[in-house]
Amino acid sequence: MRGRGSGCAGAELSTESPSHPPRWRPSPLVGASLGLHVGAIATLIARPTTWPWVLGALVADHAVLTGASLVPRSRLLGPNWTRLPAAAASRRQVAITIDDGPDPQVTPRVLALLDEHHVRATFFCIGERVRTYGELAREIACRGHAIENHSQRHVHYFSLLGPRGLMAEIERAQDTIGIVTGQRPAFFRAPAGLRNPFLDPVLNRLSLRLASWTRRGFDTINASADAVLGKLTSQLRGGDILLLHDGNAARSGSGSPIVLEVLPRLLEGIAAAGLKPITLRSALAGDGST
Ligand SMILES: [Zn+2]
Repeated sequence: MRGRGSGCAGAELSTESPSHPPRWRPSPLVGASLGLHVGAIATLIARPTTWPWVLGALVADHAVLTGASLVPRSRLLGPNWTRLPAAAASRRQVAITIDDGPDPQVTPRVLALLDEHHVRATFFCIGERVRTYGELAREIACRGHAIENHSQRHVHYFSLLGPRGLMAEIERAQDTIGIVTGQRPAFFRAPAGLRNPFLDPVLNRLSLRLASWTRRGFDTINASADAVLGKLTSQLRGGDILLLHDGNAARSGSGSPIVLEVLPRLLEGIAAAGLKPITLRSALAGDGST
């Protein structure tokens, strides 16, 4: 396995973080919610007896925000990559994204499969695992794949964190991944895709883009390679972002991590359909190659 600084000439090495993120602008839903809260306070001051109506409006508003938070592919809370940009889609490019690693039992075999098919993928890695398996994380980057931010600890209560908690989880992962691999992430994916309205301004401050997916195979809980592959390839077309897991992977009947059974067939299917896998950051750069 290659170490840091050796054989990484092809990797995009940058620990720089953009110094001037654009000013955060709320989505229409979040903007309306902020306006509602200001209006509620003003109404309560002017006419305190209206409190039942004000309370009802606020409860309804929070119900809508909570609903939007529980839908990983929703854009109601802010920008969210559910597909590649139109230019990449027209070039019949797709993105394979692989979450929750690196995992010393699975990731090296995933890397070998990707090499065999000359494919580059996007790995949404957990900061603590990157720190623990630093050599493996560097190997991912050295082979030309992209490592992106999947939070520092992947806690199950991520979507319940406030602005400071979200910032700590995401910024720590930015620093860990940047220091260990020399690649500072450009994308963030929330654990299980669940989030809350505080996430978008935090991502804006860190110059990160939220990425979810077009389709996922539920390969952390589904132990059937056929079923996972079927979900991923149903109506597969240019611009799709596919989600698999090298960390927390379900095991097939033979004990094999599902991703290792699905990936070769998926890569063959993608090639047979005339589609070309690229990384998310290549799509962001408008790159026609990888
Ligand atoms: Zn995850």
